[in-house]
Amino acid sequence: MNSDILKEEINKTFPNAEIGRIFFAKQSILLEEKYGFTPENTRFAEGGCCDEINEPEYQFMESRWKARFKFGGLAGYCHGGRTGLNAVSHHVPEVDGQKNLLLIAGPHIGYHNGSWGKVPRPGQKEITISCGSLSAIITAGYEKIINKPSDHLDRQQQTIEQLMLPYLKTCNEDNKAPNVIEGTKYLMVQVDRDLKSILQNFKNFFNGKIAVITGITINTELGNYFSVSTFDVLEKAKDILTQIL
Ligand SMILES: [Zn+2]
Repeated sequence: MNSDILKEEINKTFPNAEIGRIFFAKQSILLEEKYGFTPENTRFAEGGCCDEINEPEYQFMESRWKARFKFGGLAGYCHGGRTGLNAVSHHVPEVDGQKNLLLIAGPHIGYHNGSWGKVPRPGQKEITISCGSLSAIITAGYEKIINKPSDHLDRQQQTIEQLMLPYLKTCNEDNKAPNVIEGTKYLMVQVDRDLKSILQNFKNFFNGKIAVITGITINTELGNYFSVSTFDVLEKAKDILTQIL
Protein backbone atom coordinates (compact mmCIF):
# COMPACT_ATOMS: atom_id res chain seq x y z
CA MET A 1 0.00 0.00 0.00
CA ASN A 2 1.36 3.37 -1.10
CA SER A 3 0.99 6.15 1.52
CA ASP A 4 -0.51 8.63 -0.99
CA ILE A 5 -3.22 6.14 -2.00
CA LEU A 6 -3.88 5.34 1.67
CA LYS A 7 -4.23 9.04 2.54
CA GLU A 8 -6.66 9.50 -0.38
CA GLU A 9 -8.81 6.65 0.94
CA ILE A 10 -8.78 8.00 4.50
CA ASN A 11 -9.61 11.53 3.31
CA LYS A 12 -12.87 10.28 1.77
CA THR A 13 -14.11 9.70 5.34
CA PHE A 14 -11.91 12.17 7.26
CA PRO A 15 -11.17 14.98 4.76
CA ASN A 16 -8.70 16.86 6.97
CA ALA A 17 -6.70 13.83 8.17
CA GLU A 18 -2.94 14.09 7.79
CA ILE A 19 0.05 12.06 8.87
CA GLY A 20 0.06 12.20 12.69
CA ARG A 21 3.73 12.98 13.23
CA ILE A 22 3.60 15.84 10.68
CA PHE A 23 0.44 17.29 12.24
CA PHE A 24 1.89 17.29 15.77
CA ALA A 25 5.28 18.59 14.64
CA LYS A 26 3.55 21.53 12.92
CA GLN A 27 1.31 22.31 15.90
CA SER A 28 4.30 22.17 18.26
CA ILE A 29 6.13 24.77 16.17
CA LEU A 30 2.99 26.92 15.95
CA LEU A 31 2.51 26.82 19.72
CA GLU A 32 6.10 27.90 20.31
CA GLU A 33 6.29 30.59 17.60
CA LYS A 34 2.86 32.15 18.00
CA TYR A 35 1.96 31.50 21.64
CA GLY A 36 5.30 31.21 23.45
CA PHE A 37 4.91 27.59 24.56
CA THR A 38 8.35 26.13 25.29
CA PRO A 39 9.34 22.80 26.85
CA GLU A 40 10.45 24.75 29.94
CA ASN A 41 7.16 26.61 30.54
CA THR A 42 4.68 23.95 29.37
CA ARG A 43 3.16 20.79 30.80
CA PHE A 44 1.86 18.28 28.24
CA ALA A 45 -1.10 16.06 29.11
CA GLU A 46 -2.98 13.55 26.96
CA GLY A 47 -6.36 11.89 27.20
CA GLY A 48 -5.97 9.17 24.57
CA CYS A 49 -7.09 5.54 24.64
CA CYS A 50 -4.98 3.01 26.57
CA ASP A 51 -4.26 1.20 23.27
CA GLU A 52 -0.51 1.16 22.59
CA ILE A 53 -1.13 1.71 18.89
CA ASN A 54 -1.56 5.43 19.61
CA GLU A 55 1.83 5.71 21.30
CA PRO A 56 4.02 7.07 18.47
CA GLU A 57 2.40 10.53 18.45
CA TYR A 58 2.14 10.73 22.25
CA GLN A 59 5.76 9.68 22.62
CA PHE A 60 6.76 12.26 20.02
CA MET A 61 4.94 14.95 22.02
CA GLU A 62 6.38 13.66 25.28
CA SER A 63 9.92 13.93 23.93
CA ARG A 64 9.16 17.37 22.44
CA TRP A 65 7.53 18.77 25.62
CA LYS A 66 9.62 16.77 28.13
CA ALA A 67 6.99 15.01 30.26
CA ARG A 68 3.47 13.64 30.03
CA PHE A 69 0.44 13.57 32.31
CA LYS A 70 -2.32 11.07 31.41
CA PHE A 71 -6.00 11.88 31.91
CA GLY A 72 -7.55 9.50 29.35
CA GLY A 73 -8.34 5.81 29.23
CA LEU A 74 -10.54 3.42 27.26
CA ALA A 75 -11.77 4.79 23.92
CA GLY A 76 -9.87 8.07 24.34
CA TYR A 77 -12.37 9.68 26.69
CA CYS A 78 -11.25 12.13 29.43
CA HIS A 79 -11.86 9.66 32.28
CA GLY A 80 -9.51 11.68 34.53
CA GLY A 81 -12.28 14.28 34.63
CA ARG A 82 -12.19 17.41 36.78
CA THR A 83 -9.88 15.80 39.35
CA GLY A 84 -7.28 14.72 36.77
CA LEU A 85 -7.22 18.05 34.97
CA ASN A 86 -7.21 19.94 38.24
CA ALA A 87 -4.18 17.89 39.29
CA VAL A 88 -2.16 18.57 36.14
CA SER A 89 -2.98 22.29 36.36
CA HIS A 90 -0.86 22.30 39.54
CA HIS A 91 2.09 20.66 37.75
CA VAL A 92 2.78 23.39 35.22
CA PRO A 93 6.28 24.92 35.23
CA GLU A 94 6.59 28.71 35.11
CA VAL A 95 9.30 30.77 33.42
CA ASP A 96 9.34 34.58 33.63
CA GLY A 97 5.70 34.63 34.68
CA GLN A 98 4.52 32.48 31.81
CA LYS A 99 3.10 28.98 32.16
CA ASN A 100 1.18 26.83 29.71
CA LEU A 101 -0.84 23.66 29.63
CA LEU A 102 -1.03 21.59 26.44
CA LEU A 103 -3.87 19.07 26.24
CA ILE A 104 -4.43 16.45 23.52
CA ALA A 105 -7.48 14.19 23.47
CA GLY A 106 -9.76 12.15 21.27
CA PRO A 107 -10.80 8.65 20.17
CA HIS A 108 -9.18 6.43 17.54
CA ILE A 109 -10.21 4.08 14.74
CA GLY A 110 -8.39 1.53 12.59
CA TYR A 111 -8.44 1.41 8.79
CA HIS A 112 -7.27 -1.51 6.68
CA ASN A 113 -7.96 -2.48 3.07
CA GLY A 114 -11.22 -0.55 2.88
CA SER A 115 -12.48 -1.67 6.30
CA TRP A 116 -12.89 0.72 9.22
CA GLY A 117 -12.35 -0.37 12.83
CA LYS A 118 -9.60 -2.84 11.92
CA VAL A 119 -5.82 -2.73 11.76
CA PRO A 120 -2.96 -5.21 11.48
CA ARG A 121 -0.41 -5.10 14.28
CA PRO A 122 3.25 -6.14 14.07
CA GLY A 123 3.76 -9.77 15.05
CA GLN A 124 0.09 -10.72 14.84
CA LYS A 125 -1.37 -12.81 12.00
CA GLU A 126 -5.00 -11.86 12.60
CA ILE A 127 -6.31 -8.40 11.78
CA THR A 128 -7.23 -6.73 15.09
CA ILE A 129 -9.99 -4.37 16.22
CA SER A 130 -9.32 -0.67 16.84
CA CYS A 131 -10.76 0.83 18.95
CA GLY A 132 -11.64 -2.35 20.87
CA SER A 133 -13.56 -0.53 23.60
CA LEU A 134 -15.79 1.45 21.23
CA SER A 135 -16.22 -1.41 18.72
CA ALA A 136 -17.51 -3.72 21.47
CA ILE A 137 -20.27 -1.20 22.19
CA ILE A 138 -21.11 -0.64 18.51
CA THR A 139 -21.29 -4.41 17.94
CA ALA A 140 -23.44 -5.03 21.02
CA GLY A 141 -26.05 -2.43 20.07
CA TYR A 142 -28.70 -0.61 22.10
CA GLU A 143 -30.66 -3.52 23.61
CA LYS A 144 -27.60 -5.31 24.98
CA ILE A 145 -26.00 -2.16 26.36
CA ILE A 146 -29.16 -0.81 28.02
CA ASN A 147 -29.72 -4.18 29.70
CA LYS A 148 -26.11 -4.76 30.71
CA PRO A 149 -25.69 -5.21 34.46
CA SER A 150 -23.44 -2.79 36.31
CA ASP A 151 -19.89 -4.03 36.94
CA HIS A 152 -17.63 -2.07 39.27
CA LEU A 153 -14.63 -3.83 37.70
CA ASP A 154 -15.36 -2.30 34.30
CA ARG A 155 -16.07 1.33 35.11
CA GLN A 156 -14.29 3.00 32.18
CA GLN A 157 -16.11 0.80 29.67
CA GLN A 158 -19.43 1.56 31.38
CA THR A 159 -18.73 5.28 31.06
CA ILE A 160 -18.26 4.89 27.31
CA GLU A 161 -21.39 2.74 27.08
CA GLN A 162 -23.44 5.46 28.77
CA LEU A 163 -21.95 8.13 26.51
CA MET A 164 -22.80 6.08 23.42
CA LEU A 165 -26.36 5.16 24.45
CA PRO A 166 -28.09 8.11 22.72
CA TYR A 167 -26.38 7.20 19.42
CA LEU A 168 -27.30 3.52 19.81
CA LYS A 169 -30.88 4.47 20.68
CA THR A 170 -31.23 6.58 17.54
CA CYS A 171 -29.90 3.72 15.41
CA ASN A 172 -32.35 1.37 17.11
CA GLU A 173 -35.29 3.69 16.45
CA ASP A 174 -34.22 4.17 12.83
CA ASN A 175 -33.88 0.40 12.44
CA LYS A 176 -30.28 0.61 11.26
CA ALA A 177 -27.11 -0.99 12.51
CA PRO A 178 -24.72 1.31 14.39
CA ASN A 179 -21.44 1.74 12.56
CA VAL A 180 -17.95 2.38 13.83
CA ILE A 181 -17.27 5.52 11.75
CA GLU A 182 -20.43 7.29 12.95
CA GLY A 183 -19.80 6.01 16.48
CA THR A 184 -16.25 7.35 16.54
CA LYS A 185 -17.38 10.76 15.27
CA TYR A 186 -20.19 10.77 17.84
CA LEU A 187 -17.72 10.01 20.65
CA MET A 188 -15.45 12.81 19.38
CA VAL A 189 -18.32 15.27 19.92
CA GLN A 190 -18.83 13.98 23.48
CA VAL A 191 -15.11 14.37 24.26
CA ASP A 192 -15.09 17.94 22.89
CA ARG A 193 -18.21 18.85 24.84
CA ASP A 194 -17.03 17.39 28.16
CA LEU A 195 -13.46 18.66 27.93
CA LYS A 196 -14.70 22.15 27.10
CA SER A 197 -17.09 21.99 30.04
CA ILE A 198 -14.31 21.01 32.48
CA LEU A 199 -12.00 23.70 31.09
CA GLN A 200 -14.58 26.45 31.55
CA ASN A 201 -13.79 26.31 35.29
CA PHE A 202 -10.05 26.48 34.72
CA LYS A 203 -9.96 30.11 33.71
CA ASN A 204 -11.06 30.97 37.26
CA PHE A 205 -7.84 29.74 38.83
CA PHE A 206 -5.27 28.76 36.19
CA ASN A 207 -3.05 31.74 35.48
CA GLY A 208 -1.70 30.73 32.08
CA LYS A 209 -2.58 29.62 28.57
CA ILE A 210 -4.22 26.29 27.79
CA ALA A 211 -3.85 24.82 24.30
CA VAL A 212 -6.41 22.15 23.46
CA ILE A 213 -5.92 19.84 20.50
CA THR A 214 -8.60 17.22 19.93
CA GLY A 215 -9.16 14.87 17.05
CA ILE A 216 -9.53 11.32 15.82
CA THR A 217 -6.40 9.19 15.41
CA ILE A 218 -6.64 6.81 12.44
CA ASN A 219 -4.48 3.69 12.89
CA THR A 220 -3.15 2.06 9.71
CA GLU A 221 -0.47 -0.41 8.70
CA LEU A 222 1.62 2.60 7.62
CA GLY A 223 1.24 4.45 10.91
CA ASN A 224 -1.23 6.89 12.40
CA TYR A 225 -3.11 9.75 10.77
CA PHE A 226 -4.84 12.54 12.70
CA SER A 227 -8.11 14.27 11.87
CA VAL A 228 -8.23 17.43 13.97
CA SER A 229 -11.53 18.38 15.60
CA THR A 230 -10.52 21.46 17.61
CA PHE A 231 -7.37 23.50 18.10
CA ASP A 232 -8.02 26.18 20.67
CA VAL A 233 -5.88 28.34 22.88
CA LEU A 234 -7.66 29.32 26.08
CA GLU A 235 -6.28 32.43 27.72
CA LYS A 236 -7.14 33.72 31.17
CA ALA A 237 -7.31 37.29 29.95
CA LYS A 238 -9.94 36.35 27.40
CA ASP A 239 -13.13 34.84 28.70
CA ILE A 240 -13.65 32.66 25.67
CA LEU A 241 -12.08 29.87 23.71
CA THR A 242 -10.15 31.28 20.78
CA GLN A 243 -10.45 28.97 17.82
CA ILE A 244 -7.48 29.20 15.49
CA LEU A 245 -8.18 26.32 13.13
ZN1 LIG B 1 -9.07 2.17 21.97
